[in-house]
Amino acid sequence: KQRRRQEVVQYDASMEASVALDNSIERALRSALLTGSEFYLEYQPIVNARFPNGIAKFEALARWDSPELGRVTPDDFIRVAEMTGLILPLGKLLLDIACKDLRAHPAPRVSINVSAVQLMSPRFAEEFVAKIISSDLDPRRIEIEITETVAISDNKSVAATLHELRSRGISIALDDFGTGFSSVGYLASMPFDTLKIDRSFVSGKVASNRTIKMVRSMITLANSLDMQVVAEGIEREGEAEMLRHFGCDMFQGFHYGRPGLLSAFFDTRQMELDL
Ligand code: C2E
Ligand code: CA
Ligand code: CA
Ligand code: CA
Repeated sequence: KQRRRQEVVQYDASMEASVALDNSIERALRSALLTGSEFYLEYQPIVNARFPNGIAKFEALARWDSPELGRVTPDDFIRVAEMTGLILPLGKLLLDIACKDLRAHPAPRVSINVSAVQLMSPRFAEEFVAKIISSDLDPRRIEIEITETVAISDNKSVAATLHELRSRGISIALDDFGTGFSSVGYLASMPFDTLKIDRSFVSGKVASNRTIKMVRSMITLANSLDMQVVAEGIEREGEAEMLRHFGCDMFQGFHYGRPGLLSAFFDTRQMELDL
């Protein structure tokens, strides 16, 4: 009983600590957004399952080095940015950075994470496309990754936004499939080009028989709906082998490359050597 009570107390204390952390992240975010100079993007390669030596596309991942807080993980600052609405200016800033990076390097295609709050904001598609066009980039080089949430799964204006982006040449990926509020019905109602299977199904522990069957069914389902399937979080060759056999189209994970500056993939031959 005593131990129980202690756990409860610890839980409360850590809740308070995390609220305090969120508050300091919010404060630092607000001031960092005034200049924008503390943010940058790292890019993680996504390879073709059958030709894993080349890079099919990259995923852009937000990074923030705060002089005050140090390196803050995107899981933390994106969550705070979403709660406070700061994701709107931050999202615009990250798109600016992506466009600059893409102009500077001949990256094939880049996938950009977009949160539900952004998708639901008015004129998102219009402004997103305008930024890409004014940067002289071909929209077909751009994909957006979105996660399912209750908020967007039943939202007509989000569907319209996605169709608008798609009609302009941008492709749409459903991120973290298999987690959260996933419903298979969502796949039918939204125009996804790509399905990304969450790494919780892919890496780490030895997968159970049921997990393996689920992943296989997800891949079959996506393929039958003409979507490309990307498996995330590949850390070992063995994981890739099984997924390739199931018909998975692309792989992403530390086994193929960690996120890094886009310049690092082009200014040196390190990439080819690593692969
Ligand atoms: P995500 O979109 O699922 O991104 C993949 C995350 O998995 C990245 O973490 C990446 O570094 C990590 N990862 C990739 N391969 C492996 C692997 O083989 N093993 C393991 N253990 N991890 C792997 P990261 O960069 O910390 O990003 C975390 C999350 O933050 C992202 O998850 C995404 O939800 C969010 N995020 C990152 N950048 C942005 C952004 O620009 N906008 C928005 N809205 N969200 C972002
Ligand atoms: Ca993603
Ligand atoms: Ca993901
Ligand atoms: Ca994730």
